[in-house]
Amino acid sequence: MRAEVVSMTADNLDMEAIRRGGDILKQGGLVAFPTETVYGLGGDALNPQASMKIYAAKGRPSDNPLIVHIAEFDKLAPIVAEVPEKAKILAEKYWPGPLTMILPKSDLVPQETTGGLDSVAVRFPSDRIAQELIKAAGGYVAAPSANTSGRPSPTTAQHVEEDLGEAIEMIIDGGPVGIGVESTIVDVSGDVPAVLRPGAITMEMLKDVLGEVTIDPAILGPMAAGVRPKAPGMKYKHYAPKADLTLVEPANVAEARKTGEAVAMTQEQVNAMVETVWKLAKEKIDAGYKVGIICTDESRSHYPEGEVRSIGARKSQASVAHNLYALLREFDDLKVDYIYSESFSQDHLGQAIMNRLSKAAGYQIYKV
Ligand code: AMP
Ligand code: MG
Repeated sequence: MRAEVVSMTADNLDMEAIRRGGDILKQGGLVAFPTETVYGLGGDALNPQASMKIYAAKGRPSDNPLIVHIAEFDKLAPIVAEVPEKAKILAEKYWPGPLTMILPKSDLVPQETTGGLDSVAVRFPSDRIAQELIKAAGGYVAAPSANTSGRPSPTTAQHVEEDLGEAIEMIIDGGPVGIGVESTIVDVSGDVPAVLRPGAITMEMLKDVLGEVTIDPAILGPMAAGVRPKAPGMKYKHYAPKADLTLVEPANVAEARKTGEAVAMTQEQVNAMVETVWKLAKEKIDAGYKVGIICTDESRSHYPEGEVRSIGARKSQASVAHNLYALLREFDDLKVDYIYSESFSQDHLGQAIMNRLSKAAGYQIYKV
């Protein structure tokens, strides 16, 4: 089977194709579609066979639960046992949007979808194409990122085709996604809400409306033996580039990531970091290796040799998040031996950026 690719934009929806996509999902098939975060691999969330198909297509362990996507507020109540007050506040403020909430599940949601857990992850995406497809499918679409397990999340339909083009029925191409990193996951089932995965709804934004918010220790660094992360997906080996990736980072910022504290970088720190990235890259270039450099628009001219790629503008965290996964895919294709990367302030969207980059680097950090 080769997936049919249909193109549309949010302003010019192809409702006929969306109806067909909805029918495929209702019949237990799989459809990949854009969301504002990354492309999702959709299946009917209330159909256990569809969830099993998702795990198989991605090569994902079936105890790694799926996020259930809804497109209307009143679709939440039937799939959860209760809606805690804090969840109502968050839904009101940040839905539709890049926020996933963990809630106690109702019997309507099969164990296959939640990886055997009694809780369910729910998100209401803001992307119009996603919303229309979810509605056409009956209201509940389980959708992990539409990549093969172990590859970077897809931010274009072409990435989805590379990974899953042979495994699914339809891919909706809505152009490159807006945000580029996966949704923020917040567990709102306990007294104090806990962030299980940082994303575009930042710590600062959550604290704004909830007051106290904690971070699951599993996302702050390499996982200690015996620690059970609250998001089961975190225990699996994450995407790692084919090349040896090292992040260069100011020591105090690297320290801050272990506590989740928000820290910005000074210009002096950025300058010292750029100088060190170049020194390390140049050593490997001189030793005959093919070397990739992840820089920013601002620092581009400081790197005269190597496979130099800008990840975005340092002054725009949104641009860095947007380009991150596509750039990692590009470096895999370039077949470089080593990659040296600048790092980013550990505040706002920077927490999500550094979470993904440091995992990709296997926490190999060169401190300056
Ligand atoms: P992805 O679908 O690739 O964006 O990954 C979804 C993430 O959400 C994984 O890390 C899952 O472990 C996590 N997740 C999904 N459902 C739950 C749940 N009920 N409790 C905790 N984490 C969850
Ligand atoms: Mg994923």
